[in-house]
Amino acid sequence: MGAAANAQPIFDAHMHYSHDAWDVVPVQDVLAILKKAGVRRALISSSGDDGQQRLFQAAPDVIIPELRPYRSRSDVGTWFRDESVIPYLQERLSKFRYAGIGEFHLYGENADLPVPRRMVELARKHGLFLHAHSDIDAVERLFRQWPQARILWAHAGFERPEKVAEMLKKHRNLWADLAFRTDHGSGGKVDPAWRATFMAFPDRFMVGTDTYTPERWHYVGEHAAWSRQWLSDLPKDVAERIAWKNGEQVFGSLLRPE
Ligand SMILES: [Zn+2]
Repeated sequence: MGAAANAQPIFDAHMHYSHDAWDVVPVQDVLAILKKAGVRRALISSSGDDGQQRLFQAAPDVIIPELRPYRSRSDVGTWFRDESVIPYLQERLSKFRYAGIGEFHLYGENADLPVPRRMVELARKHGLFLHAHSDIDAVERLFRQWPQARILWAHAGFERPEKVAEMLKKHRNLWADLAFRTDHGSGGKVDPAWRATFMAFPDRFMVGTDTYTPERWHYVGEHAAWSRQWLSDLPKDVAERIAWKNGEQVFGSLLRPE
């Protein structure tokens, strides 16, 4: 395998630059890590938006920000019943530009609680993607609230590839990231059931590192190299789409100046 600069570019669709990473991995270090790994663009959602905005300011051609409904890590398990999340989202949406709202954790009937419903209304008003770390039930409820929603399904719901294929078939506006799972490829080979799903829906998958703790930033290069290995077991055009073209096509133009 050649140097990252000559290798398959990567669009990393699942990154976080949350408050506890800002001092440990400063902005310039993040950008150096991405460059060395051959990550040409990254979709980033962060608990705490200020550091994420600094990152975006430093490299608007590389960083695509999403607005997370979490001010800090502790919001993960409580945000969907926390009314104060909505004014926070409104305040941020009035000041900054985003490609989506998420990644948020939301399961089952919680998706129909008032706070998630208002979040979906804000996404609709601003024309934003939803990046959902959700089970099938919650994804279905989000689509019922907003049938035209565009949803990036984090970790492909940690579902089996057959189930993922069913969902992709049912919902044309559903994409899936493969972050934080390894069952689809190992030792440079793609799992047969996953291969069938990738071949059936080559336009709907993206890779992602999921830098959910600061230390994970030091894993970005290794993850990019590992992704290139299993992707090389797919036909070249499918591998290119999953590696970067899908992310570029779906998110790449969202933040260009109007
Ligand atoms: Zn995540």
